Amino acid sequence: MEADVRESTAPQAPSGRAQRIAERTRAEGWKKPPRRIETSECITCDTCLRSCPAEFGAIFDIGLDVVIIPELCSGCPSCVLECPVDCIYVDEDWTPTEESVWNHIELTTEGA
Ligand code: SF4
Ligand code: SF4
Repeated sequence: MEADVRESTAPQAPSGRAQRIAERTRAEGWKKPPRRIETSECITCDTCLRSCPAEFGAIFDIGLDVVIIPELCSGCPSCVLECPVDCIYVDEDWTPTEESVWNHIELTTEGA
C-alpha cells in the first residue's frame, strides 16, 4: 500500500498587498517614490489600472477620478509607460490616503 505523503506548501501569510491595505502603510523597502495621476489631464481611460502589477494593485477608479494609492504604489513604473496622455507623475510629497478612500478599497478588494 502506498501512503500519500504530500503536504500542502501553500503560504499561509497574507500577501504583501493585503498587509499594506490592512496596515495602510507603504512597504519600507521601496526606494522609489509613489506616482500620482494629474486628474486635470487624465481622460479616465483605465489603461493604467490594467497595467499596474497585481502584486501592487495601486490604481483605483473611484467614480469621477482614477487615482493611485501611494501606500500601495512601489513606483515601478508600468503605468507611466502605458498612459496615452502622460499624466502620471512622481509624487515625492505624497500624503496619506483619506479614510473614505480606504473604505472604498476595502469594499472592492474584499475576498481578493
Ligand atoms: S508606478 Fe507601478 S505600482 Fe505604482 S501605480 Fe504605477 S504601475 Fe502601479
Ligand atoms: S492611463 Fe492615463 S489617462 Fe488613462 S486613466 Fe490612467 S492616468 Fe488617466
